[in-house]
Amino acid sequence: MVSAGEHVIVIGGAGFIGSHVCERLLHRGHQVTCVDSLITGSAGNVSVLRRSENFRLVEFDVTSPLREWPDIGVPGSVFHLASPASPRDYQRLPIETLRVGARGTENALELATRHSARFLLASTSEVYGDPAEHPQRESYWGNVNPVGPRSMYDEAKRYAEALAVAYHAKRGTNIAIARIFNTYGPRMRADDGRMIPNFITQALSGAPLTVAGTGTQTRSICYIDDTVSGLLALWRSDLTGPVNIGNPQELTVRQLAEEVRAITGTASTVTTVAGAADDPRRRCPDITLARTELGWEPEIGLREGLHRTIAWFARNTGGAEKAART
Ligand code: NAD
Ligand code: UDP
Repeated sequence: MVSAGEHVIVIGGAGFIGSHVCERLLHRGHQVTCVDSLITGSAGNVSVLRRSENFRLVEFDVTSPLREWPDIGVPGSVFHLASPASPRDYQRLPIETLRVGARGTENALELATRHSARFLLASTSEVYGDPAEHPQRESYWGNVNPVGPRSMYDEAKRYAEALAVAYHAKRGTNIAIARIFNTYGPRMRADDGRMIPNFITQALSGAPLTVAGTGTQTRSICYIDDTVSGLLALWRSDLTGPVNIGNPQELTVRQLAEEVRAITGTASTVTTVAGAADDPRRRCPDITLARTELGWEPEIGLREGLHRTIAWFARNTGGAEKAART
């Protein structure tokens, strides 16, 4: 059980999801240490949080041997969110991605085990690969190409899950595995190459929205606040998981591009670009487990989530006049 004011170490806390996790934990009265190498995150994501005396940012690469780690205090819980997460990022950083999934996860598990802390792993729907089962339940083993262009990410996460399960079995580590599905919202990097930042920045600048391949591939996107609520519900529970955390509203990529066009009121057209190799053709979580065991389900609809995200991008990447249009 989580205790009030507990010290939580958030590895990868200066990234998109991690910064929102840190923020929510701080608001709940926890003491938060964010450990991040800033390889894909930024200090700017947590700059406001640094005003709190209960928050600390430690810039450090968690793949370094544990004996070289700085003193980050005794954790009650460890969230391991560190990993490049967008295809563009993990494909330009393949070895770093495998290393943080392997060595980084082992170090984080050791830290949690030594202090009898609860350990939460940010795994991913990518463990299901290009799924043959639809929607995806936690019992599905997946369909992953071990040497394909996404393998550095998919296999790192599959290994990380296996390692967490092994620590739980052999060392009694208190683990929780979250399989997070596509999440979007404020603080995504405009240049991370993912569909939502691309479509929004394209729509706001009047450039054509780049739909890859046929555009009939599907994704189920979850607003960041809902994802964070799901992660915290899992953390507070005694489940080991894996548990799917995602929004089951499934749309084609083309439909998502049209939604962004409609909300922004842009004059941008839609253009077709080459599809990515091994791009999963469909993705939708079955969240029965989270609903029944955690009492969690997403609350923020697509339109509301896109409105908030577009407004944030307009304010932070393109000027107030674009925000006014959203
Ligand atoms: P992100 O790139 O914004 O955040 C990852 C953070 O980890 C960054 O701040 C980065 O600097 C840090 N990091 C990476 N390697 C590190 C290392 N060796 N040492 C210390 N810090 C390191 O990505 P995100 O979208 O916020 O994703 C966070 C986590 O959630 C990742 O583990 C990702 O795999 C998982 N996830 C994300 C999504 C999504 O839709 N965003 C979906 C499924 C799973
Ligand atoms: N995609 C797209 N246009 C873009 C970027 C991505 O059509 O500018 C597609 C991509 O090919 C995939 C889907 O959108 O089918 C989601 O891609 P993203 O990189 O956001 O995340 P993924 O779920 O693939 O990790």
